[in-house]
Formats: sequence, structure tokens, C-alpha cells
Amino acid sequence: MGEITKKIVDGHVEGSAIKSYCNECGADRNHTILKSIRIYVSEVVAREMINDNLCEHTVDGSNEYLTLQCMGCEDISFMREHWFSEDEHDPYYGTVLHHKFYPPRSNNLLNGDKLDSVPINLKGIYSEVVDCFNNSSFILCAVGLRTLIEGICSEQGVDGGNVFHKNDEGETKPVRSSNLDGKIEGLHEKGILTKNHAEILNTHRFLGNEAVHQLRAPHKNELETAINILEHLIDSLYVIPQKGIALKEMMTKRKKTN
Ligand SMILES: [Zn+2]
Repeated sequence: MGEITKKIVDGHVEGSAIKSYCNECGADRNHTILKSIRIYVSEVVAREMINDNLCEHTVDGSNEYLTLQCMGCEDISFMREHWFSEDEHDPYYGTVLHHKFYPPRSNNLLNGDKLDSVPINLKGIYSEVVDCFNNSSFILCAVGLRTLIEGICSEQGVDGGNVFHKNDEGETKPVRSSNLDGKIEGLHEKGILTKNHAEILNTHRFLGNEAVHQLRAPHKNELETAINILEHLIDSLYVIPQKGIALKEMMTKRKKTN
């Protein structure tokens, strides 16, 4: 292990504001930064002479700890912002900043009542997907999302769909596939998923077999989009039909009493 340097450096300016979800207000709110401490860590991993100058190669990272106060309800919460030079750089978003909140932000939790009419096996997977997302376990969250899609397909009797591949002559032809991409297309073919949503799910790199097998953490925003699409799907398949039945029963009861 090389020489490690730790020092306190400038971070977010105390008294300035950042936008974050507030559990109490139930919405995004500006938060005042009451206190901030950023610790920068650097480790020398190699030294070499270049043009008579000693050059040091380092790996670097920082942890910043912030006390936040909601400018709406004045609730206090805490945030840790972390980055590490050796983390994979996202091709679209560049350096990946990781954020952890205490208490965890509840904006991505599905309302418990909403899950009442969802089959128990899907409910269990969905809850674990949301837990992984809220705890920044993004690889496990992606694996869980794949399992959730597989579960919905199985429950809906979808075992595959047509995906388009280029053949040796360069022609694009539909091929029946029972892989995840085929099943997502199958959900669309059955009219369960919109074409737009099927395309979004299929273009998310983390849902591809290769990405999951390489255990590359997907970006939080991509996961959030995929979770939103599946929430929408769960809503339309299980929650709205149940509400329709309840509404019909209420109307029948009312007619009888009139
Ligand atoms: Zn608030």
C-alpha cells in the first residue's frame, strides 16, 4: 500500500442551497447547507522519472458530509456525497457522484396500499428492487428488475417476442426470442406495454445479459426510469383493474339503496 494523504478541503459552501427530496414535504425542495465537511483522500500507487522530474501516480477520492435543512418545513437531514477516481466513468454523465441520505429519501418508495392487489410473488421482488435502489445497491437493483420483468411475463403468459437482427446478407429480419429482450417485445405484442416503453427498457444497457454478467453498476437515472416504467406497468395490470371492480361494486350498492 502506498503513501496515503487525507486532508479537509473546500466542499459545498455553507449557507448555499441544493435541491433535494424532502420526506416531510413529500416533494423536491431547496435545502440550506448548514454544515459541510469534505475530506479528500489520495494514495500514491506508483512513482516514475519523466524528463528528470519525479511523477507520482495516485488514486483519489473524497467524502463530503452535509447537514441540510429544508427551506419549506425546516426538517433537518444528512447527506454524504462520495466519488472515487477508479470508479467507472459513465460515458454519458462523466464522473459518478454517489449520494446517501439519512434518513433515506422516500420519493422512490411505492405506496404500500398501491401494492395490495399485486400478486404476492411480484410484490416481494418489487419491494426488494426498491430497497436496493434506495440503498444504492444498483447492480442488485438491475438484477432484480430483470427478475421482475421475467415474473410479470410469466404471470401474463408471455414467453418471448420478435426481435430484429441483421442476417449475413445485412437484411434486418424478425427472429423469435425467449431472452429478456424478446419477452419485453412480447409484452408489447400482447398490448401490455407501449412500444415506447418497450424500446426504453430494451435500450437500457444494464438490462442486457452482457452488462449484468459484467456486473457493471447502471446509472441511477437509468434505473429510476426503468422502475417508473415498471410501476406504470404494475399499475395498469393490477391496480387500475382492481379499482375498476371496486368502483363498479360501489355503484351497484348505491343503485340498490336508491
Ligand atoms: Zn420539507
